[in-house]
Amino acid sequence: MVLRFCPFCANLLRFRESPTGNRFACPTCPYIYPITSRVTSRIYFTGKERADILDAESAWMGVESTDERCPKCSHPRAYFKQLQTRSADEPMTLFYRCCNHACAHTWRVD
Ligand SMILES: [Zn+2]
Ligand SMILES: [Zn+2]
Repeated sequence: MVLRFCPFCANLLRFRESPTGNRFACPTCPYIYPITSRVTSRIYFTGKERADILDAESAWMGVESTDERCPKCSHPRAYFKQLQTRSADEPMTLFYRCCNHACAHTWRVD
């Protein structure tokens, strides 16, 4: 998680998505730090976070399954869970994990 602070009032900038481009915005003054969506996804979803979420067997214990076909082995069902991978006011990211334990392929839906 990369934190950015407003250079004028030192408040923690909030991540904002907008049609004209993602940005960090100060909650109390008009300061905006524009960023590209490509950079954003790397900032907020580091390799370590991804490994923690996707590879931890315990993260998928007791998780409900649904009719979602695995793109790797075509198994018709997958476990699913929603996780907050960005800041707290961002939408949840949906993750699937193949119910075929020999496959255990995991993928995400934004
Ligand atoms: Zn500010
Ligand atoms: Zn599979």
